[in-house]
Amino acid sequence: MGHDVLPPAPLRLGGQPLPIVGPARIYVCGVTPYDVTHLGHAATFVWVDALVRTLRTANLQPVVTRNVTDVDDVLTEAARRAGSPYDEYAAVHQYAFEHDMSELGVRRPENEPRAHRHIADVIRLAQALLDRGAAYERDGTVYFRGAEVPSRAGLSEAVARQRFAEFGEDPDDVAKEDPYDVPVWRRSQDADPAWPSPWGQGRPGWHAECTAMVLSHYGSSVDIHAGGADLAFPHHAYEAAQAEAATGVTPFARTWMRVGTVRIDGEKMAKSTGNLVLVADLLKEHRPSALRLMILNRGWASEWDYAPAELAAAEGQLDALHAAAGRRDDSEAAEREVLARLLDDVDVPGALAVAMESGGRSARVLAQVLALN
Ligand code: ZN
Repeated sequence: MGHDVLPPAPLRLGGQPLPIVGPARIYVCGVTPYDVTHLGHAATFVWVDALVRTLRTANLQPVVTRNVTDVDDVLTEAARRAGSPYDEYAAVHQYAFEHDMSELGVRRPENEPRAHRHIADVIRLAQALLDRGAAYERDGTVYFRGAEVPSRAGLSEAVARQRFAEFGEDPDDVAKEDPYDVPVWRRSQDADPAWPSPWGQGRPGWHAECTAMVLSHYGSSVDIHAGGADLAFPHHAYEAAQAEAATGVTPFARTWMRVGTVRIDGEKMAKSTGNLVLVADLLKEHRPSALRLMILNRGWASEWDYAPAELAAAEGQLDALHAAAGRRDDSEAAEREVLARLLDDVDVPGALAVAMESGGRSARVLAQVLALN
């Protein structure tokens, strides 16, 4: 303990140096609390946790904001089917999610903004976009002009259209001037959550919720914006485009940490298909630290397939790491090398290899930093 001196290694993320002076502002897209936590969710938050613990060990000062998307049509619909008010339904699932995160040893973020507490910020964002000519109002809905967002994200028309459909956006909405405009503020119908606004009773658009929550916590930009890889488009692309259009500050995010999708038999996990592994089920049979090691022992951007054999292998690796930690070797060079590997794109496989080979202090440090006890 007591690393008073910064490790010599610089921080790299996404293959690029990311010098941090002052607090490291991290925003991670959280959950829409209407469902149980599956392994795909867990992977994102365990990776962010590993990054945060690494930064802290290096005497950098991470500040984490992880939002709760508690105003969302998917959630409203699930609550309606369950016969619950949407906010009560969201609160129940939020507690369950936080319980799973705590079981997995994921540190609580400094800020956990809930969308329903940031309605005024979304209204301010919509007004800023209107003032700059980056949005227009139609019949109580404020649309962001997004015609250029798909090409800036490097997507073809066909792929953009398909992703739009996957995430409930409607390119064929005739009220819009362009198929790729998205609502910042949406007029609410009777059954929808609704708040008063200059444009009548309405609710925030999904991307605008995150934009507003980022801006209200950090000002006009963040150092590291994290989330699942499937959020790259449309969610992250529109979040950034709206923020940059409203503030004029670019880039909105200095770097993105989009955590690779976890699949089962080559398919993305989804409740709709029943293709799902729940964190709570895995934790009945396995140590939380084995689950963490299974998630972390690869590149954070890699897509991978979950299979029970992966978790059995992680249990074995965890035992081996603990055995290595019990050896008497106090090599400072190996300890520094472990930290350097972690600061280089959170290279857990690289750090693990050093720790297993050298053993002793380097293995203890790795287990401590990544909470692999
Ligand atoms: Zn988000």
